[in-house]
Amino acid sequence: ARVEEKLFQNRYLVDAGKPHIAIRPHEKPSENLLAMTRICPAGCYSETSSGQVEITPDGCLECGTCRVLCEESGDITWNYPRGGFGVLFKFG
Ligand code: SF4
Repeated sequence: ARVEEKLFQNRYLVDAGKPHIAIRPHEKPSENLLAMTRICPAGCYSETSSGQVEITPDGCLECGTCRVLCEESGDITWNYPRGGFGVLFKFG
């Protein structure tokens, strides 16, 4: 099956009110943060019309890419979703 079909089989449970990734408020995003609008496999990052980067973490696959690129610099904070929330992978 194509990867999109496989991804579709994963269920996602939104932990409303407790997003597990947050972006530090900024006027101009760092290069890494801006890059996330292109490389997040779940399309969670987007650029606003005024040039900031925003995130909608629903559907995040917890791949960790943004964590590697943007956490140490402080561009984002990243925590695993609470137990039972987040992506529920279906294996097989
Ligand atoms: Fe996107 Fe991966 Fe970051 Fe989730 S962990 S927001 S899927 S880059």
